[in-house]
Amino acid sequence: MSKIVAFIGLGNMGGGMAVNLIKAGFQVNAFDLMEANLKTAADAGCTPMTCSKEAVKNADFIVSMLPNGAIVESVYIDGDALLDVIPDTALILDCSTIAPANSRRVGAEAEKRGLNFVDAPVSGGVAAAAAGTLAFMVGGTEANFETSKEVLDAMGANIFRAGDVGAGQVAKICNNMLLAIHMSGTAEALQLGMDNGLDPKVLSEIMLKSSGCNWSLEKYNPVPGVMDGVPSSNDYQGGFMVDLMLKDLGLAQEAATASKSSIPMGASARNLFNLHKNSGSGGSGSKDNGGKDFSSIQQLYSRD
Ligand code: NAD
Repeated sequence: MSKIVAFIGLGNMGGGMAVNLIKAGFQVNAFDLMEANLKTAADAGCTPMTCSKEAVKNADFIVSMLPNGAIVESVYIDGDALLDVIPDTALILDCSTIAPANSRRVGAEAEKRGLNFVDAPVSGGVAAAAAGTLAFMVGGTEANFETSKEVLDAMGANIFRAGDVGAGQVAKICNNMLLAIHMSGTAEALQLGMDNGLDPKVLSEIMLKSSGCNWSLEKYNPVPGVMDGVPSSNDYQGGFMVDLMLKDLGLAQEAATASKSSIPMGASARNLFNLHKNSGSGGSGSKDNGGKDFSSIQQLYSRD
């Protein structure tokens, strides 16, 4: 008999992840507040549930992919209070990107009730969620990590244990802070070259074989026309939104405040992305760049 996964939150990411669980042979009991998202999941083979409590009732695994920490706490503890009805044989995997403190609170409340919990945020966007190639950064006990692989293998290509509960979130925000820093640094360097007469394609080729080489240059060049199939060559549509990057940089700032860490580069990147968010050209009727792909930070430097 198929194992049952209760899946809560079938948005841009969760929708694709749930489909990969179906393909791997799980029964997926799905719930989302948005009727349209639930219908899409049902059309793809998930079993739609009328509420989250019903979804988790007989589950072997619970996977949640929700927008923020307040919603995750509400779903598990204060609002829907799923922790009061989840079977003690189940493993809970929260894949949302939230503050480590939110994950630790849910983990501690789960433990009080004798339940197993891991945080398992992801790297990779909507395309990787649909393709089943996400990277998962797991926080939890060794035993729960081993158990989690049964479902994570169906949705991802790289699965890491970062440490105890909350450690997955710490790894995720460190990674995304570094991504924001090297993307804005790459945009800055490319603009300096262009302002001094260089062709961005030629400069990119040079830096790719030199010590400035980095992931943004290799896979995600921010200058339109340098690389095919990336958001910069598609009017910065698709990909990873400025608003989501800002959310992650805010979480990095919160974590740094809590640990009294200095993150001057992360703070600068956060300021740059904020400035960029609020300085839309108005060309498509909006001054808000929050919905564009994050590589559009190039436009903050551009003189066009
Ligand atoms: P989304 O807004 O598309 O999806 C979230 C879904 O949760 C929505 O369908 C919403 O209706 C549902 N939801 C909200 N509250 C709910 C509740 N109480 N009960 C049931 N369902 C509820 O967001 P997304 O892009 O899928 O992102 C989900 C998480 O993944 C976020 O934490 C985000 O930071 C993280 N993430 C996103 C990306 C990306 O590229 N989109 C990449 C990596 C990580």
